[in-house]
Amino acid sequence: MIQRDKVEPVQIQCPRCRHTEIIYIPIEELPRCPHCGSQMTIKELLDEGKST
Ligand SMILES: [Zn+2]
Repeated sequence: MIQRDKVEPVQIQCPRCRHTEIIYIPIEELPRCPHCGSQMTIKELLDEGKST
């Protein structure tokens, strides 16, 4: 089964050490930074250029 257009990649970043990761939303909550344990924040939505 294929899920369509239900997940979107977003780039998240640690506010303390600037570590970034790519996650896919929707998610329950933002993960914590593996380096310093801070709550990571959404930096950028990664839009692939879909016209919608
Ligand atoms: Zn960090």
